[in-house]
Amino acid sequence: MEVIHTIEGLRSTVSGLKADKRSRNQTDTVGFVPTMGYLHEGHMSLMEKARVQCGIVVLSIFVNPLQFGPNEDLASYPRDEQRDLKIAEQMKVDVVFMPNAQEMYPQKIRTTVSVSELTERLCGASRPDHFDGVATVVMKLFHIVNPDRVYFGLKDAQQVAVIQQMIYDLNMNIELIACPILREADGLAMSSRNVYLSDEERKQALVLSQALQNAEREVTDQTDISIAQLHEQVRSDIQSSDLAKVDYIEILSYPSLEIIDSSTFIQDALSRNSMIIALAVKFGKTRLIDNLILAQHS
Ligand code: AMP
Repeated sequence: MEVIHTIEGLRSTVSGLKADKRSRNQTDTVGFVPTMGYLHEGHMSLMEKARVQCGIVVLSIFVNPLQFGPNEDLASYPRDEQRDLKIAEQMKVDVVFMPNAQEMYPQKIRTTVSVSELTERLCGASRPDHFDGVATVVMKLFHIVNPDRVYFGLKDAQQVAVIQQMIYDLNMNIELIACPILREADGLAMSSRNVYLSDEERKQALVLSQALQNAEREVTDQTDISIAQLHEQVRSDIQSSDLAKVDYIEILSYPSLEIIDSSTFIQDALSRNSMIIALAVKFGKTRLIDNLILAQHS
């Protein structure tokens, strides 16, 4: 496994690996997994899928300052390079790209990739500029790595919708593979930020996955309830935790992220569109997100 810190080094390593694959008549498809590091099994599931589907697997680890707001956790974001490299090696990644901020942003950046509409609600509403920062760094990384397939987790379902839209709008020749949310045994969605939680916060944070599970049960039982009623049920499940401070609970179409009239019955809405129940809730200083995608009935 190669660990590369420069853009030039990454480009020449990937083109060398591709040439080598071609010379052996093996597939030279490049699978790319962008991350901010502090790797866990959620990240590992993306690497695993890339390993199965591609000839060459590139992992990036870069805590991107552009996507953090001024009062967010950029400085304290958890980091453990040595552990991350061991995990990458174990997952049979070919190349780890670990640039520093100076390498990625050597001068003031004057070009921003901005996806409209999809970024207005959910995390886009509570984290202004976040998705411009994400889309811009992801576009830069795509140009640096030049991947055929890219792997993103549905834990960040809005991010998947935004990046898919960017790929589509700008005719990028890249296939986005959206991967399911990996959870701890008790249901908590895996996240690098879970380490911030105190024992009590960690315990109470289970209300998120439990609320989503209850909602899923309502929907699969085909109960005749409206969006407003389901929303209320999710809210009251979450508010059973006295530490939970709700940032948002929204039920929207997915991936278009449009508002659905709240009097619509869930089953009617699902006959037209897939939907997402998306949550962002703070426990102490830690803001957690989770979601459930409800698939469209045929
Ligand atoms: P991050 O390091 O948090 O920027 O995440 C890097 C990638 O891993 C993103 O595509 C995330 O959606 C994905 N990811 C993070 N947590 C999970 C999880 N619990 N299950 C699946 N994918 C995840």
